Amino acid sequence: VSGALDILTRTVRESRRLVWITGAGLSVASGIPSYRRGADAVWSRFVTDWGTRARFESDTLRWWRDFWLDFHDLAPEGVTPNPGHLALAHLVAARPDHLVITQNVDGLHRASGVPPRQLVEIHGRHGLYRCTSARCSGFRQPSEDIDLSGVSRGEIPRCERCGAKLRPLVLLFDERYDSHPFFRAEEAFEAVALADALVFVGTSFAVGITELALDVGRRHGIPILNVNVEPYAELHPASLSRPLGLVDVLGPAEDSLPDVAARLLG
Ligand SMILES: [Zn+2]
Repeated sequence: VSGALDILTRTVRESRRLVWITGAGLSVASGIPSYRRGADAVWSRFVTDWGTRARFESDTLRWWRDFWLDFHDLAPEGVTPNPGHLALAHLVAARPDHLVITQNVDGLHRASGVPPRQLVEIHGRHGLYRCTSARCSGFRQPSEDIDLSGVSRGEIPRCERCGAKLRPLVLLFDERYDSHPFFRAEEAFEAVALADALVFVGTSFAVGITELALDVGRRHGIPILNVNVEPYAELHPASLSRPLGLVDVLGPAEDSLPDVAARLLG
């Protein structure tokens, strides 16, 4: 492991355009459960079934009441960034050309002080809502302050500017990254295309941006690191071979990242 930490430390120090891609594994130590990992099949099916725009549109009230509010908006009390988030915030603040792309919607990178310019929340953020009408100014300007108390009485949350339905500002399973400007997909893809190293932290390599980034990284022959409790080969058994240059930095990110930050920043 110490050899891998050396490589990670050197990569962070020497890369001009490093892209960090973070996933659920990073927030486990903050008490946020990962829905994808360790969840039973019935639960996974429920989430992928209901976590779609198609369901939102066809059954909006139930979507809000029985799916979203019941399972998602129960913001766990006292959830705060863990040492992995904090170390990463220090590392990127010291390197203005480095970027964090996160799949997490928990807002913890932001809370840990990653400069907004260097943070792409590509799956959105819990607690933000937007209008569903692309013609409304409430489409682009999300709000955190909406009244959801009527949902239990059968009222669908509506935009106060235009009356259209409101929805959470998160990417649903049947949506594309370019479905909303908040996701900053173009900027993220461009950063990946120009990156001279990629560091994955706590991702399961199961969805969109991770696959795309791996593919780009492989084609460009740049260093690719996997900071994770499990090696890439176990996370991604479908792959026939490891991408060229992929290094596993095994162990919890809340240990590895502070280690790297201490070596680089003292
Ligand atoms: Zn509106």
